[in-house]
Amino acid sequence: MPTLVFLEHHGEELQKGSLGVLGQAASLGDADGVIAGAGVRGLAAQAGGATKVWVADDPALAAPLPQPRVDVLAKLVREHAYDTVLFAASVLAADVAAGLAARLDAGLNWDLVGLELRDGALVGTRPALGDSVYVEVGWTGEPRIALVRSGTFEPAASGGEPEVADVAVELEDFSTRSAMLEQAHEEQSGPSIEDADVVVAGGRGLGGPESFALVEDLAKALGGAVAATRAVVDAGWYPYSAQVGQTGRTVSPKLYVACGISGAIQHKVGMQGANVIVAINKDANAPIFEFSDLGVVGDLHQIVPKLTELVRARKGGS
Ligand SMILES: Cc1cc2nc3c(=O)[nH]c(=O)nc-3n(C[C@H](O)[C@H](O)[C@H](O)COP(=O)(O)OP(=O)(O)OC[C@H]3O[C@@H](n4cnc5c(N)ncnc54)[C@H](O)[C@@H]3O)c2cc1C
Repeated sequence: MPTLVFLEHHGEELQKGSLGVLGQAASLGDADGVIAGAGVRGLAAQAGGATKVWVADDPALAAPLPQPRVDVLAKLVREHAYDTVLFAASVLAADVAAGLAARLDAGLNWDLVGLELRDGALVGTRPALGDSVYVEVGWTGEPRIALVRSGTFEPAASGGEPEVADVAVELEDFSTRSAMLEQAHEEQSGPSIEDADVVVAGGRGLGGPESFALVEDLAKALGGAVAATRAVVDAGWYPYSAQVGQTGRTVSPKLYVACGISGAIQHKVGMQGANVIVAINKDANAPIFEFSDLGVVGDLHQIVPKLTELVRARKGGS
């Protein structure tokens, strides 16, 4: 299964999601990676686990626009007969994957949360019907293209230095007709919810936006990031970028602390990969307790500040 994995980068780092997909691909067979951008050659060393990393390093690829990347990937697939191309889902990756599928007349499965080889055939798993069931999906032809839900696979611990090879960048005329006029980034302090080892999440049980300060304080004390349920995002209590779940982000931290969250299936699918789930909820029958490792039944307004105090005291050595 010669597989090509699109390795997305932000600044000086390959994205964790891409490295997770690379690790899974490498566990199934030979997996090469491709990095496309300007001044990106040095990033190839981060792609441990890849057999080879193709580097398309060209000023024309500086802006994160999809079509030039489709050109790079289509050329590699055609010239090196890759039968599978994998992406970790992101706004850019979704555009590139869709463009590549159209260009190569290939089948694209998206939102995969599993990928395995069964009797030599690649089988993907994806949630359906509001994430209430999982279905297995395949491809009827090659190349097989797939987008993997973010946070599904952890990057492999190590894998050695890959061979690095340059790709001659040849862009189609129509691919150079778009230009990036401006890029803006949301101000963020601390780790992103996808990269954080600890995520503290708040739900409607907080009672109002002002109570998010409790969640933020605990997250800060634990060195973690803040997440939210859709209910509170829809109510305007917290930004959408923090939403975890079916229509938000998927996270897999070492510790997930859920404060005032009922544990709806649409939330669960975004955080069930956490190593340890701690739930604080005043309702002993809340569904979240069915899949928590540790549950505290009580009022979060009393429990969370005490927890923050204890963490601070422990960290302060007192
Ligand atoms: C198509 C679709 C997609 C969706 N996508 C998402 C998604 O991506 N992410 C997501 O989160 N949801 C999603 N939802 C919504 C989801 O179904 C739930 O409505 C939502 O997750 C509930 O959020 P919540 O737990 O904050 O609120 P609630 O369900 O209202 O739960 C609040 C909890 O707080 C507890 N509580 C109240 N007061 C206190 C207190 N003082 N102390 C402690 N506990 C307290 C209550 O006992 C309750 O369990 C989606 C729904 C649909 C239909």
